[in-house]
Amino acid sequence: MSNELLVFGEELQPLVNPQLPEDMVTVQRGLLLYRQEMVYRKVEREEIITATVQDVTPCQVSLDLSFPANSQCTCNPLGVCRHQMAVFFSSYSKIQSVSDWVQTWKNGKSHLNTLPLQRAKELFLEEKPMERTYSSWKESMEDAYQKQIIYFLTQPAYTLSTKWDSYLQRLKSKMPIESEWKLLYLFLLYFHTYTFTLRTLKNESVSGSARMFLEEAADELLDQLNYLMDLFNRSARPFAFDDFFDGLQKDMDQLLEDYGELTVHSINIYRAIWTDILKERTWRQNALVRLQERLKDTEVKADVCQTVLIAVIHLLLLTGKDEEVPALLEELRPEDFPFISFWISHLDEQKSAIFIEYAIENIQSYLSYLQHYYRINQFIGHLSPYVRNYCAKTRQPDLYEKYCEKCMPHSLMFYSRALLENGKYKKWVELYIYNNIDYKFISNEDLKLIQTHEPTLLLPLLTSIVSENIEAKNRQSYREAVRYMKKIRSIYKKEKKLEQWERYIHLIQTTHKRLRAFQEELKRGKLIHVD
Ligand SMILES: [Zn+2]
Repeated sequence: MSNELLVFGEELQPLVNPQLPEDMVTVQRGLLLYRQEMVYRKVEREEIITATVQDVTPCQVSLDLSFPANSQCTCNPLGVCRHQMAVFFSSYSKIQSVSDWVQTWKNGKSHLNTLPLQRAKELFLEEKPMERTYSSWKESMEDAYQKQIIYFLTQPAYTLSTKWDSYLQRLKSKMPIESEWKLLYLFLLYFHTYTFTLRTLKNESVSGSARMFLEEAADELLDQLNYLMDLFNRSARPFAFDDFFDGLQKDMDQLLEDYGELTVHSINIYRAIWTDILKERTWRQNALVRLQERLKDTEVKADVCQTVLIAVIHLLLLTGKDEEVPALLEELRPEDFPFISFWISHLDEQKSAIFIEYAIENIQSYLSYLQHYYRINQFIGHLSPYVRNYCAKTRQPDLYEKYCEKCMPHSLMFYSRALLENGKYKKWVELYIYNNIDYKFISNEDLKLIQTHEPTLLLPLLTSIVSENIEAKNRQSYREAVRYMKKIRSIYKKEKKLEQWERYIHLIQTTHKRLRAFQEELKRGKLIHVD
């Protein structure tokens, strides 16, 4: 057997390519499994070695010494897997040095090293040449996704990530040379990969780590797509692209299915593609008619697929039928609010107006649906600048204040700013007092601003801050109280009402005469006379 094994060792070298990261990992993992003594129940015969390898799940390996390519493993590898490598190392170590084998392999010094070229050529022949058509591109991409991603979903996440990189790498190597075609090819590569990934994620048998990997990958694909769409808008579109756009618009509906957490992202990219890429009026018109039919078909309104509704609204906007939009907005549910954001942030001011008005009108129901304090804050932080700009442009400061009022306490910063800008100082002071807001959120600049305009308005706020600090009963808070009492004193002084100040300080001093530390701070701050 040892002779056969030596030959096998030689023949194995070109089957794993030290230039490919995935093959590199295969050899390293095989080495590790062998060194950790994960190979057991090994039977060595003249031409066949069989063994079990303990990995995440045990795998049965058989090495065919006369025809290496006939070797098998229950992990169903496309080529050589780490289990086969482990079994090989375990037998090889008895007749030769394993590290020498690895070294020769890395250096590509095997005397059979003409083989990789040959094999690469064969591989190339196996694949159908790619014609420059939408369907041919899509087919190759789908085929590669199936072979290089789907196949490996049960493997550990790090394997998946090298597979993913090499999947994209290989498809990118088939990219056309002309820059505008390159752009189209890349766009379609990311688009299809995104839809393949969505479809894969719909399969419940996809495990936790693979799922997490694919979700992250989907996120990156969206970034790439958005970036490419930007480039697209600035480059030429040959007529020959029409066949591709025609194919693309037929595949668009895939983005309208329910993808759980990914649904919002998918419908956003759907809208972005129709806006930036698919500009042919008849395509938009046809898609609109088709989707409107789908909406009508649904007998029970509650079951209407919201994504189709969103798609219809968007296509109405793109075909200039804005007047039909308000009626459809009525059918949205509170949880559909995130869909609105896209229009608010992507459309020009004139077109986005109806969505901002809708948001102002319905914001409360969405906030109570959201529930989580942090998520509400995040959403209000995103939405408010748009509402503010809209109200400023249309000269409706009161509408903006009304909106802020509805979103309290999450809109505090926006509301506070608006009141100051509109010179509504009294309302500003009331905002802080009645909402019982921690005074630490009040900036010194804001206080100074009011102090220059209507200083006496601040007195109720400052006195309540003082009381709050005294009640906290610790040295630090007493010092804070003194700091604010000084502000009070300077206001009374400026207003020439020092007798009122005297009354106030006397009251404070006598009410809290038992708080010795506080009395000390009062003296230290020179707010009372030292007897
Ligand atoms: Zn295996």
